Amino acid sequence: MKRTKYTIANWKMNGQKDSYKLVKSISNYCQKMKRKTSKVVICPPFTLLSELIKKEKKMKFGGQDCHYMSEGAYTGSISANMLKSINCEYVILGHSERRTYQKETSQELNLKIQSAINNNLTVIYCIGEKLEEIKKRNTILKKQLSSLPRKIDPKKIIIAYEPVWAIGTGKIPSLNDINKIHEKIRSILSNLVSLSFSKHVSILYGGSVNAANSIDILNLNHVDGALVGGASLKSKEFCKIIDSYR
Ligand code: PEP
Repeated sequence: MKRTKYTIANWKMNGQKDSYKLVKSISNYCQKMKRKTSKVVICPPFTLLSELIKKEKKMKFGGQDCHYMSEGAYTGSISANMLKSINCEYVILGHSERRTYQKETSQELNLKIQSAINNNLTVIYCIGEKLEEIKKRNTILKKQLSSLPRKIDPKKIIIAYEPVWAIGTGKIPSLNDINKIHEKIRSILSNLVSLSFSKHVSILYGGSVNAANSIDILNLNHVDGALVGGASLKSKEFCKIIDSYR
């Protein structure tokens, strides 16, 4: 089964300095690649998004969150149709940092996913267990995946499995575990949504992916790409990750 591969940069609240230079060098690298092995998407902070989209037409961009309402009295928030209005194509939803600091709930995430899809954005939906939840990982993942709408086009959603304990720590699960967990996510999706959805949806790994481990991770048969935080802020390192698919 050929699924789309993605290499996605999550800049988080970083990248203010030299953002255009960083995007330009990634874009140049992608243009020069003989074989386009994955779709590359950059998710900068909101303040940089509009300008980068206008300046670098060859790249794809995503927001790092959106509200579920289209407008209204929600100070500090940005809606899915606002992202769409600046030609943004993707949005990260349910990142563990937002689940923790903004206390995002499954119900709220369900509404956000619906709103993003209604506005024709592709959702990068993050799931993953905390360190103390490893033993009940499957239950946690099932609960988080249950925020997905039941009728959903696999091309409009990307799942990013990010064990919370692996984010920014330099620790990763064993390669065997990553592959097995991705396979498990696919089987949960087959029951929750449909067999066809589970076969076609791209499932990425995220959490301390870098140029030294990317070849091993990105060539596992159940892994369809990476969501990259820290290493996506260094052009050379991120380009090496982009070049890891065999
Ligand atoms: C992330 O937060 O989405 C992430 C994967 O971070 P890092 O690569 O820095 O672990």
